[in-house]
Order: sequence, then structure tokens, then C-alpha cells
Amino acid sequence: MYRFSVYYQQLSQRLGNVTVRDLYDSDRHDERLRSLKRITVWLATFYFSYTLVDINLLPDITLRSVLLRGLIVGPPTIMLFAYYQRSVSIRRKELAGVCQACLGTLVWCAVLLGSNDPNVLNYFYAGLVFFLVLTIVITPPFEYSLYGSLFVFACLYTTIWFLEGANARYVLHHLSVGMPVLVLSLMANYRFSAESLRLYLEKVSVEQLREELAARNAELERISCIDPLTDLANRRALALRAKALKRNVSASRRVAIILIDVDNFKAYNDYYGHNEGDSCLCAVANALRSACDTNDVVCRYGGEEFLVLHPNETSSFKSSLLLAESIRQYVIDIAIPHQPTNGIVSVSVGVCCGSLDGSTSLQTLIKSADEALYQAKREGRNRVCHNIHSATCPPLAPGETMNPL
Ligand code: GH3
Ligand code: MG
Ligand code: MG
Repeated sequence: MYRFSVYYQQLSQRLGNVTVRDLYDSDRHDERLRSLKRITVWLATFYFSYTLVDINLLPDITLRSVLLRGLIVGPPTIMLFAYYQRSVSIRRKELAGVCQACLGTLVWCAVLLGSNDPNVLNYFYAGLVFFLVLTIVITPPFEYSLYGSLFVFACLYTTIWFLEGANARYVLHHLSVGMPVLVLSLMANYRFSAESLRLYLEKVSVEQLREELAARNAELERISCIDPLTDLANRRALALRAKALKRNVSASRRVAIILIDVDNFKAYNDYYGHNEGDSCLCAVANALRSACDTNDVVCRYGGEEFLVLHPNETSSFKSSLLLAESIRQYVIDIAIPHQPTNGIVSVSVGVCCGSLDGSTSLQTLIKSADEALYQAKREGRNRVCHNIHSATCPPLAPGETMNPL
């Protein structure tokens, strides 16, 4: 069993800027209110139907029982249901329930005090049920249970002395049953409260772990799709995007693959060193990013090779060639000196246009773009060459030929 202090320490612990208790109360408000309402209906039914028991066992208090139970306990019971509808914390609603049970005890004692029947002493043992109501039936937070039970204890054991025929021996008998009922039911309430809190804290910590895990997974997913040097997408991201495009039946899946290779980069690397080479690749990557649109997937395909996947559902083959040419020009515009060739860093570009349908895979289109790229290299570098792969992509119209240089 939880030690008393541990339970309270846990309740006052902070989770962010609220205490565990506040969170516990607000999270479980609806569930606890539902149960509180149900229990209140049952208790009220029992309480008022016990008027019949009063009349049957102690006929001399018939009128007293009907009047006191009906007039003193009746209206607050109705008000209690109205209070449950208000937007106050569940703890206050449970406290209101406890107060109502205390009022019920007080009235019951007042009813029994009016009886001259010797049977009243036997019937008075039924008062112990009020302990159970306050601890196990309503199961309010432990402190309310404790205060309510102490009130009931004071009520019962003050009334007992004024009952018809009561004496010290009877009080002792009553106490011998009453005390264990009080203590054990309080223990049960404490155990229940502490256990509910423990389960709640466990649930909160599992949720926190799950959120942390989801955030880490999202971060891992992001990292696994990004090239660490240039921050561009990597091959994995490209494959995922192509797969998604292929799956999307509503899209026409027409794409242009633009393969870009930095010219004479080995010479650049050898002349300026690997670190400068890295900076040059980052600058080229930025130029590519600037030339492309957000719909395009710009990825680092290999060492000094880049690839742009350009979904061109609406645009034509010519617009893909224009994009390729614009990429080439952006790299020229940043004008990175290239001493080994007495010029500036440039790129050769191979373009392939096709459709990502059942028969054509991304790899087939890349292969065609690669052929175009080799052609650009063969023809002297710093240029765009193209390769039409699929009939779904119309070739250039006469007079529409693109010769970027
Ligand atoms: P070409 O114009 O025919 O493409 O010639 P090239 O020199 O660019 O081609 P080659 O394939 O011979 O050389 C590519 C060089 O790119 C070789 C390698 O040192 C360099 N490289 C590849 N990856 C990286 C990288 O991450 N950082 C740096 N600094 N260099 C890289
Ligand atoms: Mg290369
Ligand atoms: Mg190269």
C-alpha cells in the first residue's frame, strides 16, 4: 500500500505548469462526474425509500421521518444535481456530494432521536452505512472521505447517548462494530485513491514516452531523407517521392528528370582542397534550390551529381528544358572561380521527360537522363542535352528545339 505522504507528494508534483492533481482532476472530470451522478441517484433512492423502513420499524416517527427527510434533504438533493451541471472542478462536485451525505446522516439522527421505541437501538446500527457511503460508495478524494467520516462519527456518537434506552454498554457495543467499519473503509478509500492516481501517472508517463518516440521517429525520418552536406533531399527521399507519385492515380505522373553534374570537379577538388570542394557543392546546391520550384524534388544524387524530379503535369517538355537551362544559368551566375580551367564552375545537364506509369520506372528515366548528360559532357560541358523517353511526353515541335548555349 502507498504510504500516506507518497500519495500526497505525487499529487502536488508538477507536470509542466500544472500540478498532477489539477491534471488528474481535469482529465478525469467527465468519467468521475458520470459515476458521481449515477451514485447520487442510487443513494437518493435508497435514502428516501428508507422512509418506509423508518415507518415499519419505528411507527412513532412516521411523520417526523417523512417531513425531515422530505423537506430538509429533498431540496438540497435537487440542488446537488443542478450543481453537478456547473462548470466547477470535479473535486468541488465530489465535496458537494460528501456534504449532502453528511446532511443525510444528520437528518437521519434527528429522525431517530424522536423515537421512544426500544427497537431504535437495533436500527441505529444502520447508521454505520453512512461511513461506507462516504468512503467506498462515493469514493471522493481521501481527505474529503476522512473529514466526512469524522463528521458522521461525531454525529452518530453524539446522538447515540440521547437514544431511548442507550447506556455505556450499548455505546461500547456500537463502537466495537463502528470503529473497524470506519477505519477499514477509510483504508479502502485511501487504497483506491492512491491506486487510481498511480494508474493515471503511469498512463501519463506512457503517453509522454509515446510522444517523445513519435518526435524522435519524425526526426529520424527527416534525417534519413536529407543529405547532411547540402541539406538537399537524398536518394531515399527521391525514391519515396517517386513511389508516391506512382501511387497517385489521379495525377498524370508525367515528370522530367534533370540530372546535373559539376564540370571538372576533380580538378577543382585537387586544386582547392576537399573543404573548398564541399563549399562549392553547397553553393551549387543553393543555386539549384533557387532555380527550382517547391513542387520539384531537388536531391543530391551522388558525389558532385544532383537530380531534380520535376512533376510536369501542367507544363510541357519545353518548360522542363527551360528549367534545366535556368539551373545551368543559376550556377554560372554565382560565378565560383575555377582556376584549373581559368574559368568558373559550371554544370552539364541531362534531361529526360517521361511518365511514371506501370511500365516506366524512375530508374529507366534516370538512365535516359544520364545518357543525355553524357552527351552534354561529350559535346563540351556547360550545356543542357535531352532525351525523350516516353510517347506520353510530346517531343519538341518543329522550331521549338532548344539549344541552350
Ligand atoms: P566531369 O566534368 O567529367 O564530370 O569531371 P569531374 O572531375 O567532375 O568528374 P569525376 O567523376 O572525375 O570527379 C568527381 C569528383 O568529385 C571526385 C571526387 O573527389 C569529388 N567528390 C565526390 N564527392 C565529393 C564530396 O562530397 N566532397 C568533395 N569535396 N568532393 C567530392
Ligand atoms: Mg560525376
Ligand atoms: Mg563532374
